[in-house]
This record gives sequence, C-alpha cells and structure tokens, in this order.
Amino acid sequence: RGHGEISVKDIDQVAKSSFPLCMRNLLEKLREDHHLKHGGRMQLGLFLKGVGLNLDDALAFWRYEFSQKVGLERFEKEYAYSIRHNYGQEGKRTDYTAYSCQKIISSTPGVGDHHGCPYRHFSEENLRAALTRMGMNGRAMEDVMNKVRNRHYQLACTLTFEAIHGVPNDAGINHPTQYFSDSQKILQP
Ligand code: SF4
Repeated sequence: RGHGEISVKDIDQVAKSSFPLCMRNLLEKLREDHHLKHGGRMQLGLFLKGVGLNLDDALAFWRYEFSQKVGLERFEKEYAYSIRHNYGQEGKRTDYTAYSCQKIISSTPGVGDHHGCPYRHFSEENLRAALTRMGMNGRAMEDVMNKVRNRHYQLACTLTFEAIHGVPNDAGINHPTQYFSDSQKILQP
C-alpha cells in the first residue's frame, strides 16, 4: 500500500500495531456486535478517513459489519448516507476531520456507547484489562494508571505509546491520527 493510505483489508493489522486504545476499542466492539451507535460511528469513521481509508473502502468496511446486523437494505437506506456525508459527498459537502483527543475526552458516552477515551471513561478494571491485551504490564502499567488517577489522560496514552513502541514520544499524544502516524513512522520508516 502507498504511504498515507490504508485499505479495508489492512484495518485489523494496522489497528493492532498503530491504533490508539480508543479506536482499538471501537473496532473491537464493531467486530463483536456488527453495530456501533452514532457517537462511535463518528469517532471511528472520521478517524479511519483521517488515516487514509478512502470512501469506497469505508463503505465496504461499514457495509460488511452492519449488513450482518441490520441487513443490506437497511444499511444502504439508513447508514450509507452518513458515511458519504463524512466524506463530504452529501449535504453541505463539508470535508469533516477526525476528532481530537480533547474532544473525545470531553465527550459523554451513555449506556451502550463505545466512543470516548478509555483512559477517561473506562473503569480501572476494564482499563487494566484493555491495556494488558495491548501488551502492557508491570511498571509501565502502573505509570499509566498513575497518570489516569491524576486525570492526565493524554499523558497516560503517551506512556502507553512509548511502552509499546519502545521509543520516546516527546511531542505527546494530542490526536488519534497523530498516534497513528507517529506509530507508522516508527514501524514503516
Ligand atoms: Fe484516544 Fe486520545 Fe484517549 Fe489516546 S488520549 S485513547 S488517542 S482519545
């Protein structure tokens, strides 16, 4: 694949190597439930667009999952429009951009929602379990939990990035797409 692009068949692999926890979580829930509520569709959809998934691949990606839950016809009728809309192909044709960490951290996910920032919105138990699945443990895990207790969620995410990649991230994480591109720079220089 070219630089600055991901295709629908790459998503699971690049998610494992380069997605921040907020996006891994949404992808995991989507794969499990074949559905995400509006807030999750927006947060993940605009992120995927931001890391280079084109409109056709985005439609294929969401269609594959949602049609297993709501059927193909309902997908095309109720959901395809908003995906095209996110890509500026409907309505006012605004080219929407991915949400920043600040916006995601200050969101207020309700029951059944999976958007938001796990460092901010998960229980300690769920956060520890999710971080363990990312390969975190020991001292690095405790350092992350300390930042979370002090409400430094982006620093917690930065420490996670550093532990997983084994290199410092001096700028700090302030945008999910930046987490992705910083990771790809290390993994695919
Ligand atoms: Fe996502 Fe930002 Fe939270 Fe990291 S700090 S999990 S990139 S919202």
